[in-house]
Amino acid sequence: MKTALTTLQDTFGFDQFLLHQEEVISTLINGDDALVLMPTGGGKSLCYQIPAIVRNGCGVVVSPLIALMKDQVDALLALGIHAGFLNSTLDQFEANQIEDALLDGSLDLLYIAPERLLQERTQHLLRQADISLFAIDEAHCVSQWGHDFRADYLELNMLHEEFPDVPRIALTATADVRTQQEIISRLDLGDARQFLAGFDRPNIRYTITAKHNPRNQLLRFLKDSHQDEAGIIYCLSRKKTEETATWLQDQGFNALPYHAGLGSEKRATHQSRFLREDGVIIVATIAFGMGIDKPDVRFVAHLDLPKTIESYYQETGRAGRDGLPADAWMVYGIQDVIKLRQMLDNSDGSEAHKRVEQHRLNAMLGLCEITSCRRHAMLMYFDEDSPEQCGNCDSCLTPVDTWDGTDSARKALSVIHRTGQRFGVNHLVDVLRGSENNKVFQFDHHKLPTYGIGTELDVNQWRSVFRQLMARGYISVDLDRYGGIKLEEKCRSLLRGEEQIELRKDIRKVAAVKQTKAPLPDDIDIGLWEALRECRRRLAEEQGVPPYVVFHDSTLQAMAGLMPKDLDEFGELSGVGKRKLEKYGLTFLEVIHGEY
Ligand code: ADP
Ligand code: ZN
Repeated sequence: MKTALTTLQDTFGFDQFLLHQEEVISTLINGDDALVLMPTGGGKSLCYQIPAIVRNGCGVVVSPLIALMKDQVDALLALGIHAGFLNSTLDQFEANQIEDALLDGSLDLLYIAPERLLQERTQHLLRQADISLFAIDEAHCVSQWGHDFRADYLELNMLHEEFPDVPRIALTATADVRTQQEIISRLDLGDARQFLAGFDRPNIRYTITAKHNPRNQLLRFLKDSHQDEAGIIYCLSRKKTEETATWLQDQGFNALPYHAGLGSEKRATHQSRFLREDGVIIVATIAFGMGIDKPDVRFVAHLDLPKTIESYYQETGRAGRDGLPADAWMVYGIQDVIKLRQMLDNSDGSEAHKRVEQHRLNAMLGLCEITSCRRHAMLMYFDEDSPEQCGNCDSCLTPVDTWDGTDSARKALSVIHRTGQRFGVNHLVDVLRGSENNKVFQFDHHKLPTYGIGTELDVNQWRSVFRQLMARGYISVDLDRYGGIKLEEKCRSLLRGEEQIELRKDIRKVAAVKQTKAPLPDDIDIGLWEALRECRRRLAEEQGVPPYVVFHDSTLQAMAGLMPKDLDEFGELSGVGKRKLEKYGLTFLEVIHGEY
């Protein structure tokens, strides 16, 4: 019998296990259950793939992501692993072949959609087969609170009853404690060994900036740091995803929209282009992303504020799965907060639920406005300890200047009070700055003592003052009065002059934050790198698989950096197992040593 370590080295071409992998794998090999919470990119797949290979029988992987199954299976086949999938995209003949392979014991891994698994016919099939383990991927889909909820997942506890001797492993990247508990109780995993990896994603750089001119800010970010690279841009509305994608196309980017209203065929095409072509940008609502297995997403940008830190973490987590540097970049403004509050208010759900959601939104806003390390704050929110400074977020890289905002804050509170706590920020700023627009005269606001007392700050600076007051709970949005700004109890001492307040200075120029260009090490020959990518692209196209199924970026980088001279040296590269060595070794060696 092959051991876990030789499988890792020979089949996958990796030297050693990542954190927890070895223990999870031996838990399953010993026939016990496991619950694995690991951040994206933590290496969850190997946790069930290796035991499925090592143990007798076939490992059954339950996954809701039919669209990705073929790629997942292709990636395994490319490694020489006997894998297949069963879902509604197969015709009867193809399905029969897979079923036969399962029954005659020649399959190591079978991917299957939950609805298919639950069919009586499939159950019958599985009872006749030799099953090595059940892996329940994206296990947070059992959570009725999450937006990825799948009703079929609730019935997966039957695996435990029907196949009591087969070890099970549930996997997710969700950081939410409530979801973790739901997974345990709904899937009957009370006795499972738990593996909780930390949630830090050190290769992701977090940057959050105030929204001034979002399109220009985005363009600057893309041009400075991510020309020709794959990324996801999240927007709140379907309309905005389409408009933004069209605009980016006009600017010469390979951008495609994605949202639930697009029609399944178009969505499938856009997703597949994102996975298969190099450097495609997807502009999407939150409908896009769950389980997107693409390892080389170099950035995730938010043009609108996510509802919670959990969502922000999950969405940004889709960047940099391969461990190479990636950016999580966001612009946000006070209008975002108002819009989200209104959506929340109009949503179904009890008052208690809305209150919880309101707190979560406030926490998100707080993360945007802090002057200290973003990563530290985020990990603290997930109850995880970390150094005070991460060195890889905008707060750490360009420490934020603060200023004594006491006077201005008092003016802001005062204008809210004088105008009756029912106007939005734009109007309040107009009054403070002594603007002569119609609305000011219509309400006689030019006669107020606060009229024109705020000329020391420009419009954006004032917006920043209001945002920060909101993030810190001095003021809030009054939904009973059309989203006007109202005062909170907390503002009293500030108004009375008994409290001082330090505010952050917003950085206007995005360029001030030093961005790292593409993750390429300095000493790599760009010509060789491009030639290797081209070779990979050609091979991938010939085989109808995404480029990363041939080799990941990190393996290409190793090739370009180490320039192996023969097959022996080539086989030493991380990510080159036996099968890939045989299949691709000579082709790539030719590129490395030929005239490219
Ligand atoms: P997850 O499902 O947790 O997001 P994956 O299973 O997709 O993560 O793995 C993330 C990346 O790490 C993949 O590119 C994978 O090939 C790589 N990887 C996994 N295990 C190892 C290992 N032991 N050594 C090196 N790379 C690994
Ligand atoms: Zn930091």
